[in-house]
Amino acid sequence: MPLHTFHRPNSTDKVVTPLSPTEAYQAIADQPDAKKNDFQRSLCRAYPNLSVSQKYWFYKIANDIVNPQTKAISGIKVNSSFAKVKEVFDNAIRNGLKSPKLRLESPQGAKVVLSPAKATSTNPGFIYIKANDLYCGKISPDGIFSPSRDCNDETQTYLMEFAHDPLKAAKEYGRKTGNCCCCGRELTDPVSIANFIGPICAEKFGF
Ligand SMILES: [Zn+2]
Repeated sequence: MPLHTFHRPNSTDKVVTPLSPTEAYQAIADQPDAKKNDFQRSLCRAYPNLSVSQKYWFYKIANDIVNPQTKAISGIKVNSSFAKVKEVFDNAIRNGLKSPKLRLESPQGAKVVLSPAKATSTNPGFIYIKANDLYCGKISPDGIFSPSRDCNDETQTYLMEFAHDPLKAAKEYGRKTGNCCCCGRELTDPVSIANFIGPICAEKFGF
């Protein structure tokens, strides 16, 4: 399920979507007639010969239909399945880690940390995300990501990519920093260095 990014011309708005052109078309076209507005009809008529601007709206509207829970959030609208990330933390907890953590680094250098909310917090079962110590959002027990207002587009896009392939992002962190993304310790033995992640951590997190 590769992700595609579509930019709105002359704007910083963009949409990141796992939808294929056919899936996006179907999402819009399959709505009941009463829900479709003229603009949506015109996009369906123009499909598949969409301009750059039409493409942005096409995928944005389709994403909002498929994933209404992200609609109200400001900034970019994303499909927000973070089920794989939730699974990684569930594995770690099941394997006895009391406060598992994942450390990551975005291509822009933002230090991203994910950790489960405490059982005594207002959101037990959720995973909190911080970037450079700023709260960026949370992942629900169902694996739905809700970015906070402070989560900028770059971080949000990075988190989408991470959610899509957590192991890849975990290894990328090890490669860049020389540390294990799970426990934060330096990778010293040859196997860990070669895998960019500590073998015990990898097993506990189910990587
Ligand atoms: Zn480790």
